[in-house]
Amino acid sequence: MNIALIAHDKKKADMIEFTIAYTHILQKHELFATGTTGTKISEATDMEIYRFQSGPLGGDQQIGAMIAQNKMDVVIFFRDPLTAQPHEPDVSALMRLCDVYQIPLATNLGAAEIVVRALEHGDFQWREIVRGK
Ligand code: PGA
Repeated sequence: MNIALIAHDKKKADMIEFTIAYTHILQKHELFATGTTGTKISEATDMEIYRFQSGPLGGDQQIGAMIAQNKMDVVIFFRDPLTAQPHEPDVSALMRLCDVYQIPLATNLGAAEIVVRALEHGDFQWREIVRGK
Protein backbone atom coordinates (compact mmCIF):
# COMPACT_ATOMS: atom_id res chain seq x y z
CA MET A 1 0.00 0.00 0.00
CA ASN A 2 1.10 3.56 -0.65
CA ILE A 3 0.65 5.57 2.53
CA ALA A 4 0.91 9.36 2.89
CA LEU A 5 2.01 10.81 6.24
CA ILE A 6 1.55 14.52 6.92
CA ALA A 7 1.58 16.46 10.19
CA HIS A 8 1.19 20.14 10.88
CA ASP A 9 3.89 21.60 13.12
CA LYS A 10 2.06 21.27 16.43
CA LYS A 11 1.13 17.68 15.54
CA LYS A 12 4.59 16.50 14.52
CA ALA A 13 5.31 15.09 17.98
CA ASP A 14 2.15 12.96 17.67
CA MET A 15 3.29 11.76 14.25
CA ILE A 16 6.73 10.76 15.56
CA GLU A 17 5.22 8.81 18.44
CA PHE A 18 2.73 7.19 16.08
CA THR A 19 5.36 6.12 13.54
CA ILE A 20 7.70 4.82 16.25
CA ALA A 21 4.88 2.81 17.83
CA TYR A 22 3.75 1.34 14.51
CA THR A 23 7.05 0.99 12.65
CA HIS A 24 6.53 -2.80 12.53
CA ILE A 25 3.39 -2.26 10.43
CA LEU A 26 4.31 0.85 8.46
CA GLN A 27 7.68 -0.47 7.27
CA LYS A 28 5.91 -3.13 5.17
CA HIS A 29 4.43 -0.39 2.98
CA GLU A 30 5.58 2.39 0.66
CA LEU A 31 5.69 5.58 2.68
CA PHE A 32 5.37 9.12 1.37
CA ALA A 33 5.39 12.37 3.34
CA THR A 34 5.55 16.11 3.08
CA GLY A 35 9.10 17.48 3.50
CA THR A 36 9.53 18.25 7.16
CA THR A 37 7.27 15.48 8.37
CA GLY A 38 9.25 12.99 6.28
CA THR A 39 12.60 14.19 7.59
CA LYS A 40 11.46 13.90 11.20
CA ILE A 41 9.98 10.43 10.68
CA SER A 42 13.11 9.07 9.02
CA GLU A 43 15.32 10.54 11.75
CA ALA A 44 13.15 8.96 14.45
CA THR A 45 12.53 5.55 12.87
CA ASP A 46 15.09 4.84 10.11
CA MET A 47 12.20 3.92 7.81
CA GLU A 48 12.61 4.62 4.12
CA ILE A 49 10.23 7.39 3.13
CA TYR A 50 9.77 9.37 -0.07
CA ARG A 51 9.65 13.08 0.68
CA PHE A 52 7.66 15.60 -1.29
CA GLN A 53 7.95 19.39 -0.89
CA SER A 54 7.11 20.87 2.47
CA GLY A 55 3.34 21.28 2.85
CA PRO A 56 3.22 25.09 2.51
CA LEU A 57 5.48 24.84 -0.58
CA GLY A 58 3.23 22.43 -2.47
CA GLY A 59 3.71 19.06 -0.75
CA ASP A 60 0.01 18.67 0.00
CA GLN A 61 -0.75 19.29 -3.65
CA GLN A 62 1.83 16.72 -4.74
CA ILE A 63 0.15 14.12 -2.53
CA GLY A 64 -3.21 15.28 -3.91
CA ALA A 65 -1.90 14.64 -7.42
CA MET A 66 -1.05 11.06 -6.46
CA ILE A 67 -4.59 10.61 -5.12
CA ALA A 68 -6.00 11.97 -8.37
CA GLN A 69 -3.92 9.39 -10.25
CA ASN A 70 -5.28 6.68 -7.94
CA LYS A 71 -1.79 5.98 -6.63
CA MET A 72 -2.32 6.69 -2.93
CA ASP A 73 -4.11 4.12 -0.77
CA VAL A 74 -4.21 5.65 2.70
CA VAL A 75 -3.68 9.20 4.00
CA ILE A 76 -2.72 9.90 7.62
CA PHE A 77 -2.86 13.64 8.07
CA PHE A 78 -2.51 15.02 11.58
CA ARG A 79 -4.08 18.44 11.14
CA ASP A 80 -3.77 21.24 13.64
CA PRO A 81 -7.35 22.44 14.08
CA LEU A 82 -6.35 25.36 16.32
CA THR A 83 -3.82 27.17 14.14
CA ALA A 84 -4.47 28.99 10.86
CA GLN A 85 -2.35 27.54 8.04
CA PRO A 86 -1.06 29.69 5.15
CA HIS A 87 -1.83 26.80 2.81
CA GLU A 88 -5.35 26.11 4.10
CA PRO A 89 -6.72 25.85 0.54
CA ASP A 90 -4.22 23.04 -0.16
CA VAL A 91 -5.22 21.26 3.05
CA SER A 92 -8.91 21.42 2.09
CA ALA A 93 -8.14 20.30 -1.46
CA LEU A 94 -6.23 17.26 -0.22
CA MET A 95 -9.05 16.19 2.08
CA ARG A 96 -11.61 16.81 -0.66
CA LEU A 97 -9.70 14.55 -3.05
CA CYS A 98 -9.66 11.79 -0.43
CA ASP A 99 -13.45 11.99 -0.44
CA VAL A 100 -13.65 12.14 -4.23
CA TYR A 101 -11.56 8.97 -4.57
CA GLN A 102 -12.80 7.17 -1.40
CA ILE A 103 -9.32 7.13 0.10
CA PRO A 104 -9.22 6.30 3.83
CA LEU A 105 -8.16 9.50 5.63
CA ALA A 106 -7.22 9.72 9.32
CA THR A 107 -6.90 13.28 10.60
CA ASN A 108 -5.94 12.50 14.19
CA LEU A 109 -4.12 9.96 16.31
CA GLY A 110 -7.29 8.13 17.38
CA ALA A 111 -8.41 7.49 13.82
CA ALA A 112 -4.86 6.71 12.67
CA GLU A 113 -4.59 3.89 15.20
CA ILE A 114 -7.73 2.30 13.77
CA VAL A 115 -6.41 2.72 10.23
CA VAL A 116 -3.00 1.24 10.97
CA ARG A 117 -4.52 -1.78 12.71
CA ALA A 118 -6.83 -2.27 9.74
CA LEU A 119 -3.74 -2.15 7.52
CA GLU A 120 -2.15 -4.88 9.60
CA HIS A 121 -5.26 -7.03 9.14
CA GLY A 122 -5.23 -6.51 5.38
CA ASP A 123 -8.53 -4.61 5.45
CA PHE A 124 -7.45 -2.28 2.65
CA GLN A 125 -6.77 -4.96 0.08
CA TRP A 126 -9.79 -3.71 -1.85
CA ARG A 127 -7.52 -0.84 -2.87
CA GLU A 128 -5.41 -3.26 -4.91
CA ILE A 129 -8.54 -4.25 -6.82
CA VAL A 130 -9.48 -0.60 -7.37
CA ARG A 131 -5.93 0.13 -8.56
CA GLY A 132 -6.09 -2.86 -10.90
CA LYS A 133 -3.11 -4.69 -9.38
P1 PGA B 1 5.69 19.66 6.41
O1 PGA B 1 4.27 20.00 5.80
O2 PGA B 1 5.72 18.20 6.66
O3 PGA B 1 6.69 20.05 5.36
O4 PGA B 1 5.82 20.49 7.66
C1 PGA B 1 3.11 19.65 6.47
C2 PGA B 1 2.02 20.63 6.19
O5 PGA B 1 2.06 21.72 6.79
O6 PGA B 1 1.12 20.38 5.38
